[in-house]
Amino acid sequence: MATAGEESQTQAGRHQEVGHKSLLQSDALYQYILETSVYPREPEPMKELRDITAKHPWNIMTTSADEGQFLNMLLKLINAKNTMEIGVFTGYSLLATALALPDDGKILAMDINRENYELGLPVIQKAGVADKIDFREGPALPILDQLIEDGKQGSFDFIFVDADKDNYLNYHKRLIELVKVGGLIGYDNTLWNGSVVAPPDAPLRKYVRYYRDFVLELNKALAADPRIEICMLPVGDGITLCRRIS
Ligand code: SAH
Ligand code: CA
Repeated sequence: MATAGEESQTQAGRHQEVGHKSLLQSDALYQYILETSVYPREPEPMKELRDITAKHPWNIMTTSADEGQFLNMLLKLINAKNTMEIGVFTGYSLLATALALPDDGKILAMDINRENYELGLPVIQKAGVADKIDFREGPALPILDQLIEDGKQGSFDFIFVDADKDNYLNYHKRLIELVKVGGLIGYDNTLWNGSVVAPPDAPLRKYVRYYRDFVLELNKALAADPRIEICMLPVGDGITLCRRIS
C-alpha cells in the first residue's frame, strides 16, 4: 500500500502537465476546490464536454474546470457582449464563454483545427448557444489583420488568447487595438507549467522548453506596457488579465 507521502506524490504527478497542474502548494487543496465549489456547480453541458475531451489524446490542452468557472464569472461581471477567442480546441473555454454571454452576445472563435471544434460542437448546440459563435478555421494572425483593415478597432469587450504561445506578442500588437478601452484581454498559460522559474538545467519537456522563452518575453512586455493594467492570476496554468486603459 502507498504511504501518504507516496500517495500525494502520485497525485501531484497527475497534475504536472500544462493545464492540469495545480499551482497551489498541495494538490489536495486543488482537489478540494474542484470538489467543493467547481464540480457541483458545473453546468451539465460543460461536464459533458469535459468528459468528451478527457478521451482526446491531447486532453492536457483543455481549460481546467476551475478556470472555466472563473471565465464564466468574469464575463458576467464585465457584462461582456462582443468577445473573441484564439485557440478553441474542443471548446471548453468557448462554452464557458458562450454560456456567460447574453442572448445577443457574440464570440469570434479561431482555430487552425476544425475537427476538434466539431467534437465539442454537438454539446454546444444542445446547450442552445451555438448561434453566438462565429468559428473561423485558420491561423489567427491574418484574421486579426483583416479585422483591423475592416475598422473593427475598439470593438471587443473580452478576448481570450489560448493558442500558439510563440505568437502571443504578435497577437498583442493587434489585440490592443481591437479590444475597447476598458475591455479585457486574457492571456492563458502565462506561468507555463511553472517553467518560468525553472533553473536553466531543469529537465523540461521539449515543447515546454521551446515555448518558455516566448512566455518569459511576453510576461516582461505586458508588465512594461503602459497601455494596459495587468493582473496575473495563478488560476489553471496562469492567466494574465490586461485591461486596456489607452
Ligand atoms: N481554449 C481551449 C484550448 C486551446 S489549445 C480549451 O478550452 O480547450 C490551443 C489551440 O490553439 C489548439 O486547438 C490549436 O489548434 C490552436 N492553434 C495553434 N496555433 C494556432 C494559430 N496560429 N491560430 C489559431 N489557433 C491555433
Ligand atoms: Ca490554456
